[in-house]
Amino acid sequence: MKKALVCGAGGFIASHLVTRLKREGYWVRGVDLKRPEFSATAADDFRLLDLREPGGCDSAIALEQGRFDEVYQLAADMGGMGFIHSAECEILRNNALINVNMIHAAARAGVPRYFFSSSVCIYRDMEPGEPELTEAEAYPARPDNEYGWEKLYAERVALAFGRKYGFEVRIARFQNCYGPEGTWTGGREKAPAAICRKVAEAMDGGTIDVWGDGRAIRSYTYVDDMVDGIYALTQSSLRGPANIGSPEYVSVAQLVKTVAQVAGKTIGVKYVEGPVGVQSRNFSNERIYSTGWKSRYSLRDGIARTYPWVDQQVHARRAGPGVGAGVSAAAGGGGLTP
Ligand code: NAD
Repeated sequence: MKKALVCGAGGFIASHLVTRLKREGYWVRGVDLKRPEFSATAADDFRLLDLREPGGCDSAIALEQGRFDEVYQLAADMGGMGFIHSAECEILRNNALINVNMIHAAARAGVPRYFFSSSVCIYRDMEPGEPELTEAEAYPARPDNEYGWEKLYAERVALAFGRKYGFEVRIARFQNCYGPEGTWTGGREKAPAAICRKVAEAMDGGTIDVWGDGRAIRSYTYVDDMVDGIYALTQSSLRGPANIGSPEYVSVAQLVKTVAQVAGKTIGVKYVEGPVGVQSRNFSNERIYSTGWKSRYSLRDGIARTYPWVDQQVHARRAGPGVGAGVSAAAGGGGLTP
């Protein structure tokens, strides 16, 4: 039985990844600062550890017998654009410590295969309609924010350790990922979850606030597709970073329209000032396609699976003790990453 360590397994994508690895027949240990918020972990073993600490990374990777076959490093201090712009120092410090200490521990433990979750935030801003960027075109580097600079640095750290210690490194640059059991409120949520929440909170015929002017272009990848891509990439022979994302690029205005259609509501939009990030995205998926992976969910299909879950959270919160019914549809969030 293969053994996998999943770092960040209390979080959104990694908790789905744990479930996927269990389906593949792995023995899985999950580690995080916190347990998954919305359902029980599928991991065989779950440890609460701080991976900024070298000792935390050593405990994560220690097994009584043998060693892990694969490490999936998805732990990070992260959130939507609002968080990325307001917590630059925390992001740079916490994520650099996690990434340097974790790969060092993996190298010392002799782990043969290491996956690192990077982001398309490592790329520069693009003009709408610009041709696709390939992975190599990340250089000369000009990420739009410090989160992206740290990811780029961590990619280089992972590749250097792989070269020196002779283990396989796989790096995915994720597009914006969404789905059930992702952060949906509190300031760290990303655009799809924030828009789902605002639409769920709004009355039919109501208006929601959205950051920016609605024209920023992104692709949004449903979490099941992302997890399939992580698994396909890790098992593949693809060295060097690979973009993983849906090829369906939409404006923020189109995202809002899709959510409103799925909710069956007529929703007006008031565009307000807020951190939007880059204007446009367009990336080649040829490398990840060479593994046989392709996204299976359109934005509409993914939102149809995500909106009911967010709507349920909104209603549960309203019904909860001490929570009034007057949750503002305009409150917080709306952050766009990557
Ligand atoms: P998430 O915030 O839900 O999960 C990250 C997890 O890391 C959290 O559970 C958090 O508690 C944990 N963590 C943070 N600091 C830690 C520490 N010191 N020790 C142990 N655990 C710690 O985020 P996610 O959306 O699931 O993202 C997973 C990975 O994918 C991250 O590396 C993120 O940067 C990357 N990524 C995500 C997206 C996206 O759209 N969600 C896009 C690009 C890249």
